[in-house]
Amino acid sequence: MGKNVLIVFAHPEPKSLNGSLKDVAVERLTANGHRVVVSDLYAMNFKATADGADFLARNNAERLNYMEESRNAYENGTQAADVAAEQTKLKDADAVIFQFPMWWFSMPAILKGWVERVFAAGLTYGVGQHGNGRWGDRYGEGKLMGRRSMLSLTCGGLPSQFGPRGVNGSLDDLLFPIQHGILYYPGMDVLPPFVVYQSRRQTLDDWPRLKSEYEKRLDGLFTDGSLPFRLQNGGHYDDQQVLKPGLGAGESGTRIHLLQPGDPPQAMPATTGKA
Ligand SMILES: Cc1cc2nc3c(=O)[nH]c(=O)nc-3n(C[C@H](O)[C@H](O)[C@H](O)COP(=O)(O)OP(=O)(O)OC[C@H]3O[C@@H](n4cnc5c(N)ncnc54)[C@H](O)[C@@H]3O)c2cc1C
Repeated sequence: MGKNVLIVFAHPEPKSLNGSLKDVAVERLTANGHRVVVSDLYAMNFKATADGADFLARNNAERLNYMEESRNAYENGTQAADVAAEQTKLKDADAVIFQFPMWWFSMPAILKGWVERVFAAGLTYGVGQHGNGRWGDRYGEGKLMGRRSMLSLTCGGLPSQFGPRGVNGSLDDLLFPIQHGILYYPGMDVLPPFVVYQSRRQTLDDWPRLKSEYEKRLDGLFTDGSLPFRLQNGGHYDDQQVLKPGLGAGESGTRIHLLQPGDPPQAMPATTGKA
């Protein structure tokens, strides 16, 4: 049965390589029977800055506390219309694809702004019980559980430069704040990223190969395995949220947060909490 897919597209030029990859996703997923919605952030002139204008009513008009006002506005229906509209697309989606060029080792500012504004308190963070041994519903639990997500990005650098000993730092580490900190945090499953390296060296001769590689990944959007991040509340972390001794052996850095063969089973979340 067809599913709902949201593509969040962050590139100022529709004819760019990123624009072509976005078009491929729309065509392929539609041909596969899915319903696709695109948030073309530059075309929408999406407001990237999180500020007091995001709230139609304020709890405290004297001093802005963005997190508190975010929760208040989310719960009381007083968010800016563009934020509420993007949240509706997000909640309706069974999978979310983020299409962007790597800019300064991360996502373009307009996309980071989309996350900051759309991922409201009470929807994506500050969810569940905090205190008495619980640190909330996050990292594998939360209101976006049951959804899949995938980064599709282009980088100027070579694969070797993003490898385990590459000068740029490993791509797994660079994407950890996005894949683990933004997507897994509110409960989404995260598929391995689709990456075009040396993007500026690509030519139209390379395009049929790139297109076909991406189409294969799109065909697996609802069947491919996701990154095996550990559950926060699954028993692998201690009461201070530190990975327990003996787990992550032989790994370092952010890779210790991936399950390894032979790890003890995790307690699965009790609730789905789907938004
Ligand atoms: C501010 C900034 C910061 C950056 N920081 C980093 C960084 O930290 N790390 C890093 O690795 N890189 C970085 N880069 C490089 C950046 O990642 C690349 O410029 C980007 O990935 C290129 O993607 P594009 O869609 O803009 O490509 P485009 O410039 O649109 O296209 C790239 C090439 O693909 C060809 N192409 C092939 N097929 C097609 C098709 N079907 N449609 C369109 N074009 C096609 C084009 O002809 C062109 O030669 C940065 C760039 C900027 C501007």
